[in-house]
Amino acid sequence: MTSQHMLTLIPVFIFGACVGSFLNVCIHRIPRKKSIVSPGSACPVCNKPIPFYANIPVFSYFALKGRCLFCRAPISKRYPLVEALTGIAGVLICLRFGLTPRAAVWFAFAATLLMISFIDLDFQIIPDVISIPGIVIFSLLAYFVLDMPMSAIGYGILTGGGILYVVALMYYLIRKQEGMGGGDIKLLAMIGAVTGVPGVLFTLFAGSVFGTIAGIGGMLLDPEKGGQMRIPFGPFLSAGAIMYVFYGDAVIRWYV
Ligand SMILES: [Zn+2]
Repeated sequence: MTSQHMLTLIPVFIFGACVGSFLNVCIHRIPRKKSIVSPGSACPVCNKPIPFYANIPVFSYFALKGRCLFCRAPISKRYPLVEALTGIAGVLICLRFGLTPRAAVWFAFAATLLMISFIDLDFQIIPDVISIPGIVIFSLLAYFVLDMPMSAIGYGILTGGGILYVVALMYYLIRKQEGMGGGDIKLLAMIGAVTGVPGVLFTLFAGSVFGTIAGIGGMLLDPEKGGQMRIPFGPFLSAGAIMYVFYGDAVIRWYV
């Protein structure tokens, strides 16, 4: 990549960080069933509206030394973290796919998965208001932008939703309690819409490996709580899906 191309990555990062700022709003408000449009951002402690110059993604957090402009209450590190992660996602996707319509779809996909992951971490739910429209929107993007055949999209959704539905059903029949949320089922269906059957299988495999490693880690760190801890599956499925976007081609080539 030439140095001139490298310069275009700066606006890409800034754009990504601004999207990340909006994701923070969604992560905080959607599970609380609040509007994501109005009112504008306010400090949760002193309730003062945050002016635009104190709401610049990543930058403002450091300029304000992590404290509210008015009441100096500490601001969660999560805000700049989500903004920076979204900006980095934009840069990595552009490096891999160029400034193309395809890259825009993968960025929207990554941003949606980031939002779902942080909501799942906080609330152990994946809201239907994200996953169900997500299935529809990503099906359309897969068909019109990624040139995926309608059948591949349909099989991806059915496989993604179907596998986890069967797993959840079996768990329920054996243990007589719900082990996997319906949210995970709809999330993997959404992932299937843009990655097809191979993407679903890869995501499920990679997500299970990541989840198991995290589970063992949790048990080693805190043997008493670790065994009982409910590990949200959403972030691990999301990480697996993103890995597939970047390395899926190579994995399939290696396998075939
Ligand atoms: Zn404040």
